[in-house]
Amino acid sequence: MSVSENIKDIKQRIAQAAQRCGRSAEDIQLIAVTKTLPITVLQEAYQCGLRHFGESRAQEFRDKIHVLPEDTVWHFIGHLQTNKIKYVIPSCVLMHSLDSMHLANTISEFCEKKHITRSFLLEVKTSDEATKFGFDPDEAVESYVTISEFSHIQLQGLMTIAPFVDDINQIRNSFRKLREIRDDIYKRIGRHQTLELSMGMSQDYEIAIEEGSTMVRIGTSLFGPRGR
Ligand SMILES: *Cc1c(COP(=O)(O)O)cnc(C)c1O
Repeated sequence: MSVSENIKDIKQRIAQAAQRCGRSAEDIQLIAVTKTLPITVLQEAYQCGLRHFGESRAQEFRDKIHVLPEDTVWHFIGHLQTNKIKYVIPSCVLMHSLDSMHLANTISEFCEKKHITRSFLLEVKTSDEATKFGFDPDEAVESYVTISEFSHIQLQGLMTIAPFVDDINQIRNSFRKLREIRDDIYKRIGRHQTLELSMGMSQDYEIAIEEGSTMVRIGTSLFGPRGR
């Protein structure tokens, strides 16, 4: 199938998943994950109407942000080493992978020096299998409250990666855990702002939507398998 057919199919599945749980498809943002893909693929996706793009490697992010028009919304979704903050943070509309207090502190100092404020999601490790990065669920609420008081950092919600397993219940539990952490944050700091839940990838985005996802990050189902 072509990229445009894939987009149509995915949007339909998003709408159906939303409908199953009484949500509106408009509340779910599709982010095209284009890591490792050539620029021609990004341009095709842009021409098909996509505007939200996600990259996970710092230098690749830096090199790709110039190839699409200015109304492109760039997300960074990978682990960011502190020495590469400069490649990513200035041009990043939403950074999904704020995964340690050290990174938060270093980014805050960087933004203060540059006189910029940027938006972030706190990455939470809701399973042992998916990734080694992210805050432990037990410390997520406290860390969220702490970082939300940093100047130059605007926290807008949470992100997680589900475990790479076949057991749907395990995947669902991981998404549910993230939603529960969000609800605990609401209890702590009030509900002045709707918090984003960035969860769901090609294999599991429909489950994620049923559990409250507001942003799905999709690569393979849009563009086919990546070479590496
Ligand atoms: C690669 C990646 C995705 C997209 O994965 P697919 O399975 O190709 O849809 C989503 N989120 C993160 C953090 C990724 O690294």
